[in-house]
Amino acid sequence: MSSLPLIDPDNALFLDFDGTLADLAPRPELVQVEAGLVGTLRALHRQLGGAVAIVSGRTIAELDAFLAPLQLPTAGVHGAELRDAEGRRLEVPAPDLDRLHRRLEDFARGHPGLRLERKPMALAVHYRAAPELETLVREQVAQALGDVSGLEMLHGKMVVEVKPAGVTKGSAVELIMRSPPFAGRLPIFAGDDVTDEDGFAMVAHLGGVGVLVGQRASAATVSVPAPADLRAWLHRSARALDGGEAAETHAPPAAHAGETRSDPDTAAAPAAATAATAGPSGSGSNPSASTTSS
Ligand SMILES: [Mg+2]
Repeated sequence: MSSLPLIDPDNALFLDFDGTLADLAPRPELVQVEAGLVGTLRALHRQLGGAVAIVSGRTIAELDAFLAPLQLPTAGVHGAELRDAEGRRLEVPAPDLDRLHRRLEDFARGHPGLRLERKPMALAVHYRAAPELETLVREQVAQALGDVSGLEMLHGKMVVEVKPAGVTKGSAVELIMRSPPFAGRLPIFAGDDVTDEDGFAMVAHLGGVGVLVGQRASAATVSVPAPADLRAWLHRSARALDGGEAAETHAPPAAHAGETRSDPDTAAAPAAATAATAGPSGSGSNPSASTTSS
């Protein structure tokens, strides 16, 4: 299994937010952004010539609020909203969600553990507070959706969403990669959820690297245990890229194959370009951490 090399000046970076850049929280609005993360993202954005994008199920407005004052190229709502490197907004035609929203409102009202979220281009039923309702939620959303054309269901972590059909994190990556400063670069996509698999598949198709945060079967080629490890890798890469620029030498691309240190508690320290199979703390549950596409 490959280890996770430091980010190269020729890479383009695509980053999921929840569970990847930020630790998950009991409720989506309670998620916190680590001090220092915005600074590192800003540095990487500069170092990679602007080729750093956020790709998330959240809306662009929410993501901007979390990362303020930074505004990166962003695909929101799984790609249904898009802001390119020039700051232009491209959106798929807004689907008519009103009827579906009313039906799901009735359902959610009957179950206090559920939270129905209306996004500009999608609906989400969160069941993190009532995980035992997963099957019921899936059934009810499928039933409410019926055979409405142009919409499809998406199952994420503790959430079932309805969004425009055919729009995925993979299609978002493909679209963003068509234009400067992304075009021609080798993409890296980091994500944690099953909804990120489309992104992993797309970067694999483009010859790039998928980085799974967590452990499960995946199309990603490399994994790190937790968001703290992913952040440590970003911090470390940004420092290395700056060092390379300052010395006016080409930063050595990724000659770090042997590095296996992983310490989730040292997110801001030079640690943890964690290889897929590096289970340094022997915490036990790392047998098939790395999943490779072939
Ligand atoms: Mg995520």
